Amino acid sequence: MNKLEQEISKRRTFGIIAHPDAGKTTLTEKLLLFGGAINKAGAVKSNKIDTATKSDWMEIEKQRGISVATSVMGFEYKDIKINLLDTPGHQDFAEDTYRTLTAVDSVVMVIDCVKGVEQQTEKLMEVCRMRNTPVICFINKLDREGRDPYDLLDEIEEKLDIQVRPLTWPIGMGKTFKGVYNLFSKNLLLFKASKQQLTAEGIEIKDLNNEELNKNLGDTLADQLREDVELIEGVYPELDKEEYLSGKVAPVFFGSAVNSFGVKEMLDTFINISPQPKERSTEERIVKPNEEKFTGFVFKIHANMDPKHRNRIAFVRICSGKFQRGSSYLNVRHDKKFRFSNATAFMAQDKETVDEAYPGDIVGLFDTGNLKIGDTLSEGEKGIYKGIPSFSPEIFKEVINKDAMKTKQLDKGLTQLMDEGVAQLFAFEMGARKVVGVVGNLQFEVIQHRLKNEYGASCEFAPMNLYKACWFSSKDKKKLDEFVKSKYRHIARDKDGKMVFMAETKSWLQMVEDNFPEIEFHFQSEF
Ligand code: GDP
Repeated sequence: MNKLEQEISKRRTFGIIAHPDAGKTTLTEKLLLFGGAINKAGAVKSNKIDTATKSDWMEIEKQRGISVATSVMGFEYKDIKINLLDTPGHQDFAEDTYRTLTAVDSVVMVIDCVKGVEQQTEKLMEVCRMRNTPVICFINKLDREGRDPYDLLDEIEEKLDIQVRPLTWPIGMGKTFKGVYNLFSKNLLLFKASKQQLTAEGIEIKDLNNEELNKNLGDTLADQLREDVELIEGVYPELDKEEYLSGKVAPVFFGSAVNSFGVKEMLDTFINISPQPKERSTEERIVKPNEEKFTGFVFKIHANMDPKHRNRIAFVRICSGKFQRGSSYLNVRHDKKFRFSNATAFMAQDKETVDEAYPGDIVGLFDTGNLKIGDTLSEGEKGIYKGIPSFSPEIFKEVINKDAMKTKQLDKGLTQLMDEGVAQLFAFEMGARKVVGVVGNLQFEVIQHRLKNEYGASCEFAPMNLYKACWFSSKDKKKLDEFVKSKYRHIARDKDGKMVFMAETKSWLQMVEDNFPEIEFHFQSEF
């Protein structure tokens, strides 16, 4: 192994996905504590937008401040360099989460044992499935009276369409919660509620028939555990690492994040089985991480909070080679080289200047408006990385300029906010109407506020009756032209200039699909 390959094999880049309140922030904090990256609980701030104040832009700005600090948290554990990418908690910013998931190699999914699989988790899992991202599941809050563990496992398999393989098993729950049994190392961990203590004491019990078990758990729970383990070993086949790596099977851990219980078991397994940075596809070819030449892509852009300094930080995921600060790299979209003398790495909660970085790492590049989400940077590679699709928004509104003197500012502000990925802009071919599409209404407030605050532009949003933005394609060029001609009034361009059919209703889209069988319609930009 050369130096580059050594660095690659040490890296694990992942994200935590969860429905709000399941325990993502708490688990993040415990992982950082294990990694020695922070030394006290309470140091990690939640990036949740408080529902009570969610229409308040001050709150949004505050969260934006937190989110830059927690975007990427790097830490080391047992000689492995772990990069944990944070995802926004609020569902109105789901698109941001989708994009972050394109920059990770695996995910940990947190599920609340009282609530089971919730709606946001289902959506996020769909995104993981698109890329066959490996998933480890952490069922949290076992110190509460939750649902039956077998039910929870069934629900995960059913709702998330993934097979499960428990690697720890809970003993009791809520008030009777006694601990977990590690099915892999055959080790019993006894629970003690503690927000400070980091590791639970383990008792090795290789043979479950040993009387030792009864002494520790009492007769009823000991018998129950024997029965459970027999059942599990009978029902679930051994964990096949390859099946985990291809996203077919999710290993499952039970625990209580707030009590640091069961977390270490998961982390130890995680560094053992989770994937190191993998090869990735550009439009032209597959790029291996151990190729000499640097490549990477921008998956997130964060604007300066101070409107006087309109600079931004672009977050770049390194895919191959070695990134070196001060080098000039090609921005493939512009076919132009830029020098990046200011680069930041993210360690736990601190930013520090970084001179070099390797595949799997995330660097923050200082940018004055040349970079946008999806851009590929390289040392000569000409293909753009695939895998950062736009999804059709849910809500559409037309932009109405309220200050004709500030038209330029409005255009510039909109372009820059769209480069950041705050929302999507569609420009109709006819009549130059501009439409902003979002996942949740909160995004309109953010746009309005930031246009005013940072660009001095005023706009309003007029509701529009649109169902979906559909990207479309056809093998038959003539049919495609015919379709465009016939539906010209309903065709707009997206940020990359691709044509999009703006469907007004579901039934109308269905009709159009029937009338134009040669045209394929897609709810996302990459197909
Ligand atoms: P997030 O929205 O997913 O980031 O959730 P948080 O980590 O902020 O947790 C939501 C709430 O659940 C907080 O009040 C936590 O203290 C609580 N919580 C997290 N883990 C546990 C746990 O293991 N047991 C119990 N009882 N509560 C927990």
